[in-house]
Amino acid sequence: MDIPLLDLRAQYAGLKDEIDGAVGEVLSQAAFIGGPRVKAIEEAVAECCGVSHGVACGNGTDALFLILANLGIGKGDEIITTPFTFVASAESIVHVGAVPVFVDIEPGTYNMDVGQLEAAVTERTKAIMPVHIFGQCVDMDPVREAAKRHGLAVIEDACQAIGATYRGVRAGALGDAAAFSFFPSKNLGCAGDGGMIVTDDAELAAKAKKMASHGTSKKYFHDAMGVNSRLDSLQAAILLEKLPHLDDWNAGRRAAAAVYDELLADSGLALPETRDFGEPVYHLYVVRSPDRDGIMAALKDAGIGTAVYYPRALHLQEVFGYLDYSEGDFPVVEAAQEEVFAIPLFPEITREQQERVAEVIAGATG
Ligand SMILES: *Cc1c(COP(=O)(O)O)cnc(C)c1O
Repeated sequence: MDIPLLDLRAQYAGLKDEIDGAVGEVLSQAAFIGGPRVKAIEEAVAECCGVSHGVACGNGTDALFLILANLGIGKGDEIITTPFTFVASAESIVHVGAVPVFVDIEPGTYNMDVGQLEAAVTERTKAIMPVHIFGQCVDMDPVREAAKRHGLAVIEDACQAIGATYRGVRAGALGDAAAFSFFPSKNLGCAGDGGMIVTDDAELAAKAKKMASHGTSKKYFHDAMGVNSRLDSLQAAILLEKLPHLDDWNAGRRAAAAVYDELLADSGLALPETRDFGEPVYHLYVVRSPDRDGIMAALKDAGIGTAVYYPRALHLQEVFGYLDYSEGDFPVVEAAQEEVFAIPLFPEITREQQERVAEVIAGATG
């Protein structure tokens, strides 16, 4: 029994008629950019996380970039985030001319160690970018308190956390603005690239929307420098079919995580820790072991998908060499990158599949 890390075909099979119908409708209307479906998904995603504005764009990386650029963040400004994330978190900061400043993470949740924020703030700091890694929210109260004390913006990288909550509030509504990604493997994925900004800041939303469409004020009139970063109607149509299922899918992921928690309790693996301030959405179920390579090899031989998120932290990546970090700067991150790996988890995974994963792990560790 082969078990993929993520089974996108199972999800499509469950919604094939709806998705095919929606796609067919867009094709027959031949209106591919902008239009009512894009507006509808902007409103629906904003409503789903309890904020007033959604601005669709080309991908999650652009969503971060558009937020930073339109909050006036630029050359020489510093943004505090963690190095244990997908490259896009820091990439977006560099693309507005700003500097990513890293802090270490907590060992159990892999989220930003908020106790290190205060020491990372300088007179150049303009914002904090918490990344809700693997679908669990960062402890946001201390983040917002530090931001308030120093007059900083809070920009959520919520790309892995759509639907997650913190003290009853959804990711996306926990800072000044947030970025979502609709990359196919994300909890709400489209059939290609897609992303969205959500915010309660009407001015930021309007500016980001304009920038995402070539700085256009009126067709062929441009009063601001822009980029081309749009969500197309086909993707919007697919997302509109999928969004109503998001909460069920996330509940399915939580249920599957609880099954692993039980099946792997005595496996010797360190299991993901959850904090009781909210509900995570398990974008990934990440375990750790000093014998990662051996266990991953056994799983691979059994036809079971695994992957390492993330094998090299951002502060040690060649592209960020100019930031002058070195090995030893973030010991918790550096220990994690040697031991972590994700095992199959998706809403449709069966208990039988999970038992098989646990059995192979037991064989490899026993
Ligand atoms: C996926 C992801 C992004 C970027 O999203 P894209 O749509 O791939 O550009 C940014 N940050 C994190 C943490 C992500 O997981």
